[in-house]
Amino acid sequence: MSYSTIAKNELCGVVPKSECCRLAEAYGLLLYSKLLSEGHDSYATDNRAIAVLMGETAASVCGVYADVLTFPQSGKSGGKYVVKIPNASQKKMICATFVGAGRGILDRECCVAAFLRGVFLVCGTVTDPKKDYHMEFLTGSERRSDILYDTLVRAGIRGHKLQRGDRWLLYIKDADDIISLMKLMGASYATQHIVTTRDMRNFRNDANRRVNCDQANIDRTLSASEQQCAAIRKLIEVRGFQGIPPELRELAGLRLENPEMSLRELSEILSEPISRSGVNHRLKKLMELADETKTQ
Ligand SMILES: [Zn+2]
Repeated sequence: MSYSTIAKNELCGVVPKSECCRLAEAYGLLLYSKLLSEGHDSYATDNRAIAVLMGETAASVCGVYADVLTFPQSGKSGGKYVVKIPNASQKKMICATFVGAGRGILDRECCVAAFLRGVFLVCGTVTDPKKDYHMEFLTGSERRSDILYDTLVRAGIRGHKLQRGDRWLLYIKDADDIISLMKLMGASYATQHIVTTRDMRNFRNDANRRVNCDQANIDRTLSASEQQCAAIRKLIEVRGFQGIPPELRELAGLRLENPEMSLRELSEILSEPISRSGVNHRLKKLMELADETKTQ
């Protein structure tokens, strides 16, 4: 089952808080399934819960008993479900419920969530956050797209509009915006899934950054070490190992044997341990000696 279907099934179980919200949810469901548009008297979905909710909503809010028809699909689990308004007079009754209501239905803050839930159920999809942060609403009219856009803005959510042929796409890419909207609509379980996925991803990105940073430190150590080793080899070549001043000799040998070690690690394996800066000082001294040797 897709993440979108899981979220929609959860949303179908959310009960509007009051009568005004019930009307707002019905408006979202019916307007965006085009059942309020001229020439449309049916809505098809492959989600049974949505078809049942629409049938119940038409009955309880508009007093119309719509048919909910099932068409099994061969070779597939589930099927197609069609919500059909039986005749023209019942369609009139449905439309009359919302006449004059228009945007007034959305005047109350409490109704915005219910309306958006209805809209998402019939024309929205959300991608599994493990793949991408993406939520979209496909509508068949610029007006419906604009109403949705404005309602999202009121809820503090930023959508992006795009025209695709004769359809209007409204999409949301920001993880926090998707989380806000899922939470607002009442999908607690689906919201939790996005939050957990986002947190895990942030944690992994931070860990990767730390690893890259550690690697950069190792690279720096190695590049400094290569220069030190080259200097020590040069000194041995020109002066012989015994020609290196006694206080630097042990460190010179240890550095050649352990090019990958940090200054601190070198400081700890000296027969008489000294501080990290002491090691640094001695290595610098070796390099200076090698430089002087070059110029001789
Ligand atoms: Zn309300």
